[in-house]
Amino acid sequence: RAKSEGRGTYRFFEHKMGVQVRDRRILEHELRHAVARGEMHLVYQPQTQVETGEVIGFEVLLRWHHPERGAVSPAVFIPIAEESGAILQIGEWVLRQACRDAASWPNPLAVAVNVSAVQIHAPHFVQLVHEVLLQTGLKPDRLEIEITETALIRDPVRALSTLRQVKALGVHIAMDDFGTGYSSLSNLRSFPFDKIKIDPSFIRAVDTNEQTAAIVRSVLGLGRGLGLPVLAEGVETDAELRFLAAENCDAAQGYLMGRPAPIERFSQFTHGIQDEPGKPGLVA
Ligand code: C2E
Ligand code: MG
Ligand code: MG
Ligand code: MG
Repeated sequence: RAKSEGRGTYRFFEHKMGVQVRDRRILEHELRHAVARGEMHLVYQPQTQVETGEVIGFEVLLRWHHPERGAVSPAVFIPIAEESGAILQIGEWVLRQACRDAASWPNPLAVAVNVSAVQIHAPHFVQLVHEVLLQTGLKPDRLEIEITETALIRDPVRALSTLRQVKALGVHIAMDDFGTGYSSLSNLRSFPFDKIKIDPSFIRAVDTNEQTAAIVRSVLGLGRGLGLPVLAEGVETDAELRFLAAENCDAAQGYLMGRPAPIERFSQFTHGIQDEPGKPGLVA
């Protein structure tokens, strides 16, 4: 009896896993054509200076509108695209489109593009960035690439060499999701980062939780000591923003200042008619 139960259980799991694997394979296949079929589009989220409220740039975030499933989260499809290698083609499209958009914005508005480990380790990444900058005419210092620590661990020597070359082009490099990866501190010392982005999990309730506040204060101190500006991600409330202002955090990004949206939504900034520079004000 135990034997048959065991087998039944095994079959049940096999079946469940089979469906998941098949689902993944379908998505993997569909991802290869998603750009060409016009199912992908970009949204932009403003990044602001905490002290003045001024918009300093936008992070570009990829969206996939699947013909049957509707919106698929990047948290779901990016890992699949990374595993299959489709991220190379998709990432190139994102980079080119984002730089093309940003080239028409008033100086010095910057664009931040997420770049995955697979792209960093691909042989022609530096050449691609260089080419896209030339083709779009975007000044290199108005492009920032965002990298998570997991992008560095696979082959740190190679990642370092690539990042140094990217930096030599004049492009800025931000460490994304700071605090959630492994050995954040040694990575900050070893890699040529220009900015630290604190993960939303540390911003949530920073104004009410003493432990969270202590961690954020210490990251801000770290940034100050290293001469790196710090951006707080996922700012949703006035109280969180006030805390960050009191602690001299440089920049912020989050639903409070603006949700990710098609770039047309931000035409007051991208068409150069930001009212009274230096005047504090929210985007949304
Ligand atoms: P990320 O780079 O850390 O992006 C920030 C995420 O936080 C975005 O989720 C954004 O919509 C969300 N967010 C921003 N403000 C708030 C807030 O106030 N509250 C909350 N709860 N969330 C906020 P999204 O767009 O779903 O992207 C998730 C992740 O997918 C990104 O994390 C990034 O790692 C990846 N991703 C997105 N687009 C691309 C891309 O073009 N290339 C690559 N390689 N990865 C991408
Ligand atoms: Mg990012
Ligand atoms: Mg992040
Ligand atoms: Mg992330």
